[in-house]
Amino acid sequence: MSQNNEDLFKNIISHAKEYGFIFQSSEIYDGLSAVYDYGQNGAELKKNIRDYWWKAMVQMNENIVGIDAAIFMHPTTWKASGHVDAFNDPLIDNKDSKKRYRADVLIEDHVAKIETKIQKEVEKAKARFENFDEAMFRSTNPRVVENQKKIDDINARFKDALEKNDLAEVRQIIIDLEIVCPVSGSRNWTDVRQFNLMFATQVGSVSEESNTIYLRPETAQGIFVNFLNVQKTGRMKIPFGIAQTGKAFRNEIVARQFIFRMREFEQMEMQYFIKPGTEMDWYNRWKEVRMKWHRSLGFPENKHRFHDHLKLAHYANAACDIEFEFPFGFKELEGIHSRTDFDLDNHEKFSGKKLQYFDPEDNESFVPYVVETSIGLDRMFLAVLSQAYAEEKLEDGSDRVVLRIPPVLAPIKCAVLPLVKKDGLPEKAREIMDVLKYDHLCMYEEKDSIGKRYRRQDAIGTPFAITVDHKTLEDQMVTIRYRDTMLQERIPVDNVSKILDEKVDMKKLLKQLS
Ligand code: ATP
Repeated sequence: MSQNNEDLFKNIISHAKEYGFIFQSSEIYDGLSAVYDYGQNGAELKKNIRDYWWKAMVQMNENIVGIDAAIFMHPTTWKASGHVDAFNDPLIDNKDSKKRYRADVLIEDHVAKIETKIQKEVEKAKARFENFDEAMFRSTNPRVVENQKKIDDINARFKDALEKNDLAEVRQIIIDLEIVCPVSGSRNWTDVRQFNLMFATQVGSVSEESNTIYLRPETAQGIFVNFLNVQKTGRMKIPFGIAQTGKAFRNEIVARQFIFRMREFEQMEMQYFIKPGTEMDWYNRWKEVRMKWHRSLGFPENKHRFHDHLKLAHYANAACDIEFEFPFGFKELEGIHSRTDFDLDNHEKFSGKKLQYFDPEDNESFVPYVVETSIGLDRMFLAVLSQAYAEEKLEDGSDRVVLRIPPVLAPIKCAVLPLVKKDGLPEKAREIMDVLKYDHLCMYEEKDSIGKRYRRQDAIGTPFAITVDHKTLEDQMVTIRYRDTMLQERIPVDNVSKILDEKVDMKKLLKQLS
């Protein structure tokens, strides 16, 4: 049993490996840092999350279409998008431990520690007083007020330094805050340098600078460069959206927290093209829509929150994250950005091609503004996995680990189990498999005791198990066992298909969204 969140997270990681969800990449060669492979169950869960996103975004919206652009793009794309010049992380090294850190992360972690102090004061007071007024407490308690002022001062100074791209000042903030290297414990820091996160490679056989191309660091640019192709061939009218899912690559410095921050990951992005001036309305609307999507999966309300960006990216005039409470705290899961006409405008300049929309109603052409929703599929996977993972003590004193994955997302929908592997039970079970397999991914298992098989299915999140016993051959009834309650009931064989269709139907979730 996990004693604390750190333990819990470790257990989730080993569970993900033990049950075929996630393996370290090239494990037999001791792995490749921050790169992971999805196993037989992981690939299914990932596909189901992607499907649910795609259906919610593309199938449910007549004015959103999906594309699949290439990972490689003309190198000028990344000049135009700003990634060659501005897609950097500020790096700092500790001279004693030789460890490298992201300067912004060191400062943010320091701020988070002060925030934790405040939170502890609040929790303590909450436990002491009835009718506790948190807002009042935060604005009057001297220690909280002082700590909050510290946070505001650091944030303001840090924001200013970033905006001026003043790396010496970023270093000075680290020195002034007396931040020490977690490994060496010293404050012996190098200067702060910018490090570009894009992976470069060569196209063709000659290695010259002109042949340098990049692995895309986001899928969005594949959408922007195809904006007119899609608009014209699809006869799309503004407002309309283009959605895409696919791999993105970033040479992350601080690669940690399992699949939360990887060097190769998958994004699900949607760019919504709108009339300039309407962006704040659409920005707020998409914030709401996306939050609803997350909550439709049955996460408790307090698991998500919005976080407005302190420093806006070079392309945005408003931006926020939907944060999820992972076992290691609240962190970004999805970004919603109002990108103005930054991208299309720059692609016009760099390509010399017009990327404008002609509005037949107003009889005018303009470069559309864009509101984007961008979610990491792997981070969403981690959110689902960490929310689903439960260690339980049962009434009979035994333990079970169960993944309470929403049935629509579960890798295997139903296990079909003959009670024993003789007396014609396997044949009957196979008959049932042959009916179900056309609609659902099911698993046939006959090895080990029925109890052990149930536990194995619980561990991979299979919501239903059908058991065939000797009586089935006489009365055509089977036992259905529910993962979450462990309740069992007898139902006619002929009803199995209908029950499954109903319980794993994505339609119900999609209907909640509209
Ligand atoms: P972070 O601040 O965590 O580095 P970001 O703000 O750079 O993320 P965006 O550029 O907005 O992220 O990318 C959109 C989404 O892509 C993020 O919300 C996240 O879910 C996902 N994402 C970004 N970088 C990674 C990564 N290295 N590994 C996994 N997912 C990622």
